Amino acid sequence: MKLGTLEIHRGEKKSGYLKVKGCGLELPVTVIRGEGKRTALVTAGIHSAEYVGIQAAVELAQELCPEQVKGTVIIVPLVNVSGFAHRTMSVVYEDGKNLNREFPGAAEGTAADQICHTITAELFSKADYYIDLHSGDGYEEMQNYAYYVGPVEEAVRETSFQMARRVDAEYLVESRHTTGGAYNYASSMGIPSVLIERGGLGAWSREEVDLDKKDVRRILAYLKILNPEEEESGPVRTQLVFQEAVYENAPEGGLWYPVFRPGDFFKKGAVLGEIRDYFGNVLYECRARADGMILYQTVSLAVVKGGPMTAYGVMP
Ligand SMILES: [Zn+2]
Repeated sequence: MKLGTLEIHRGEKKSGYLKVKGCGLELPVTVIRGEGKRTALVTAGIHSAEYVGIQAAVELAQELCPEQVKGTVIIVPLVNVSGFAHRTMSVVYEDGKNLNREFPGAAEGTAADQICHTITAELFSKADYYIDLHSGDGYEEMQNYAYYVGPVEEAVRETSFQMARRVDAEYLVESRHTTGGAYNYASSMGIPSVLIERGGLGAWSREEVDLDKKDVRRILAYLKILNPEEEESGPVRTQLVFQEAVYENAPEGGLWYPVFRPGDFFKKGAVLGEIRDYFGNVLYECRARADGMILYQTVSLAVVKGGPMTAYGVMP
């Protein structure tokens, strides 16, 4: 297998950098190659302040060895490298774009377009399965859950759903989108994919990192890329699947006062939060469009016009 300047033979593990064509940024990558044909791709840090997944991917890349892997595991522990270095959170430092809105990307665009294009061309082209690790952003608190894509080929949807079933979280969300996000676009290419959400607020803990690593190992064991006799490989728990989610962006900038916490249930019409001005006057009241449960929400006092405010799953 060739990946950028790396050449990886069976029985080898190699680490290096994958150059992004155009802007010249370099993505860290580790390839663990055992016997067997199938390839799983694991990425983290598409949003660079989502540290749980980044740390979990760094550790998985250190821990997995070719003798354990049936097939190949490619790990990119940090996609938004310049955002991490400059701490610009969910956006790319060079152009202010959110990578998870730009897939499949473009060779002739700005840095974010080129990163997405390189991942699509160099990594999705090699992947049979895809796991993407996320958290709430630096200003967001979150309920742990996992996404997979609904409106794709049935076999892709079913395998993606079974991968999501292996995530140690009480909730799953079936996404309706087939472009924009990395796992969304990969699914539309026929690659069974899952996005894991755990942690938030720019923090990470040993417990959360270990849970992320267990999720990845359980999914790889279910796919028989790790040995299911040595690893847990079954579904973890009963999960509620949201077929529909609502993402509310702030119509005004100002001070934001959420009412509920992630994991709280509410009825249609309930006030989910208010935006007030600097004198304390209410500018906007966000009301629930349906019965639902908070998946994640902004908890910084500042809310940005057009930026995320709250997101919830609609009760099936
Ligand atoms: Zn994210």
